[in-house]
Amino acid sequence: MKPIRLLIHGGSGRMGRALTRISAADASLQVVAVVSRSPMAELSQGLWLAAEALADAPPFDVAIDFSLPSGIANLLAVCRARGVALVSGTTGLSDADHAKLDAAAGDIPLLWAANFSIGVTVLRRLVERAAAALPQWDVDIVELHHQRKLDAPSGTALVLGAAVDAGGGKPPTYHSLRAGDAVGEHSIQFSGSGERLELIHRAYDRDVFARGALFAARWLAEQNKGKYRLEDAVQAIVRSG
Ligand code: NAD
Repeated sequence: MKPIRLLIHGGSGRMGRALTRISAADASLQVVAVVSRSPMAELSQGLWLAAEALADAPPFDVAIDFSLPSGIANLLAVCRARGVALVSGTTGLSDADHAKLDAAAGDIPLLWAANFSIGVTVLRRLVERAAAALPQWDVDIVELHHQRKLDAPSGTALVLGAAVDAGGGKPPTYHSLRAGDAVGEHSIQFSGSGERLELIHRAYDRDVFARGALFAARWLAEQNKGKYRLEDAVQAIVRSG
């Protein structure tokens, strides 16, 4: 079978480097372009493309985007023009950015997720159930990330807050900590009278997110146009055994 041709958008970043390294060891994937704002020596093996030159990218099947919100409009335009799929994990997007993703999903297969780990996918469901069972309890969402993370609260914290809301819990209070090189931790605390329930997820290695995004890319390459969630890809794989 021919490998799936990938364009990594945000390729010089922490996530982009993990995606490029893991893809290189997988015969079912072929990275054909690595796009970033600034070049890097280790990416100069003919794959690097400046963000401004994105329209000149070689043919690809799926774009994987872990960059910054400023790059999303240009990437969407190129993916739409070529009719290729897009997996995005970029957080800190505005409502207007999300509306652009929704519009693009009318033309291409598109999957955005604030967190590509399996654990957080399950945590979302647990949080919704806990919120439904504890509608009177105070809810606090505490997230910890490395110092260079730009958005706060994290995209994952906001998604978990939406799960509290969907379950009928009290509006959560967000607490963001930026310290050291923490990859990502989220704690959802339900506080009642004299007791507290806490659900925690800790990511120790950003390869977890990269593997999840590559799994999503393989699945999305087979889908028709439309907007998908990570849960759709996970459930489809579970259903097919
Ligand atoms: P980083 O700062 O290390 O890297 C950012 C990359 O994006 C760099 O390669 C940079 O050159 C590129 N970039 C910046 N602006 C650009 C533009 N306008 N056009 C094209 N490329 C541009 O960041 P990171 O830690 O790799 O994280 C990237 C994003 O992914 C952040 O939004 C972060 O919150 C998110 N993230 C999501 C998940 C998830 O599971 N969804 C996990 C980790 C990080």
